Amino acid sequence: NKIKDICEKFYKSKKISFEDFKFLMDLNEKDAEELYSFARKLAVKNFGKEIYIRGLIEISTYCKNNCYYCGLRNANKNAKRVRLSKDEILELAEHSVNLGIKTIVMQGGEDDFYYLEYLKEILREIKEKFKDVAITLSLGERDFKDFEVLKNIGADRYLLRHETFSKSHYERLHPSSMSFENRINSIYKLKELGFQTGCGMMIGSPFQNMRNLYDDLNFILKLKPQMVGIGPFIPQHDTPFRDFERGKLEDVLKILSIVRIADEKLLLPATTALGSIDDFGREKGILAGANVLMPNVGAEKLRKNYKLYDNKIGTQVENSDDFKGLEEKLNKIFYKISSERGDYNKER
Ligand code: SAM
Ligand code: SF4
Repeated sequence: NKIKDICEKFYKSKKISFEDFKFLMDLNEKDAEELYSFARKLAVKNFGKEIYIRGLIEISTYCKNNCYYCGLRNANKNAKRVRLSKDEILELAEHSVNLGIKTIVMQGGEDDFYYLEYLKEILREIKEKFKDVAITLSLGERDFKDFEVLKNIGADRYLLRHETFSKSHYERLHPSSMSFENRINSIYKLKELGFQTGCGMMIGSPFQNMRNLYDDLNFILKLKPQMVGIGPFIPQHDTPFRDFERGKLEDVLKILSIVRIADEKLLLPATTALGSIDDFGREKGILAGANVLMPNVGAEKLRKNYKLYDNKIGTQVENSDDFKGLEEKLNKIFYKISSERGDYNKER
C-alpha cells in the first residue's frame, strides 16, 4: 500500500521527496486516516495515550510589531490593550500549579513593558515558589543577550514560530521592519543556548503554497526542534488579511502527522487555533499524532482581548477556564492527562 510505504520510508530515512509529500497532502478524507493512524501509533508508542498539559498564560496584548495576520498588531486601533503585572502572573502560575499543571507558558505580544529585569524577577519568583515547574516563554524576538539571561535564570523552553521558511513568503506576511534572517537566527540561538526550542507555522496562511510547506518540513528536519507549533491561519477582521480564507482542518492534520513521523519524540501540540476551527479539532489533532494540549488558564481580561484571530475558543468563558472539562474530552477518545512535566526526552 502506497501510503504506508511512503510513511515507512520517510520514518526510516527521515527524507521525503516533494512528490511523496504532495501525495500525502493530496490524500482524500478516507485515505488520510491511514496517514493519521501511522502517526498516531508513533505517538502512542512514545507517550502512551497520555497528553502533556501546558498552562497557557497570556500576559500582554500590547505588541510593537505589525504582522499582517495578527489581531494584536500594533496598527490595530480596535485591539484592547491589556497586560499582567508580576503579581498577577504569579497568581495565575499558582492557579495552574494547583490544577496539577507542571508547565507554565507565558505568551504575549512583543511588549517592552517586560524589560529584562522585570522578566527576570518574574521567572525567579516562579522558580522559587514552584520548584518543579517548567517555564516556557513565547514572547517573540528579543536580544540574544536577553535570551541567554532568561535561560540562565531558569526558563526551560521557548516557542518562536518561524512562520514560513521562505524569505519571500515571510516578507509577504510581515512588514519590512521584521527580518526573516533574524527570526531564523533567533531560533537557532535559542536552541544553542539549551532551550527546548519550538518553531512552527500557520497552515493556509495567505500566499502559502505546497512548496513552502515542504520547505518548512525540511527546515524542521534540519533544525531538530523539541517542539513544533502548528495551527491553521484564521483571518481576523481588523487585519490586512481579513478577506483571506482560513487554513483547512485536513491540511493541519496531515502536516501534524507528517511532522510526527519526522520526529516520533517531538512535543507536538494540538493548538487552540485548531480547536477554534472545529469543535473536535484538538481531539482530531491528537488522533493525528499530537501529544500536547495548552489550555488557557489565564486571566479573564486577557482571554477576552487576546484576539489573534476571529472566533478564538476560550474568549467567551467567564470565571472558568479551558482546563475544565479537558480530562473528560480526552477520556472520550480514550486518552488521559499525563501527570508528568513532559520535557523532550532525548539529547539533541
Ligand atoms: N508575539 C509572539 C510571537 O509572535 O512569536 C508570541 C505570540 S503570537 C500571537 C503566537 C503565534 O500566533 C504566532 O507565532 C502566529 O503563528 C500565531 N497567530 C497570529 N495570528 C494568527 C492568526 N490570524 N491565525 C492563526 N495563528 C495566528
Ligand atoms: Fe505581535 Fe506576535 Fe501578533 Fe506578530 S504574531 S503582531 S509579534 S503578537
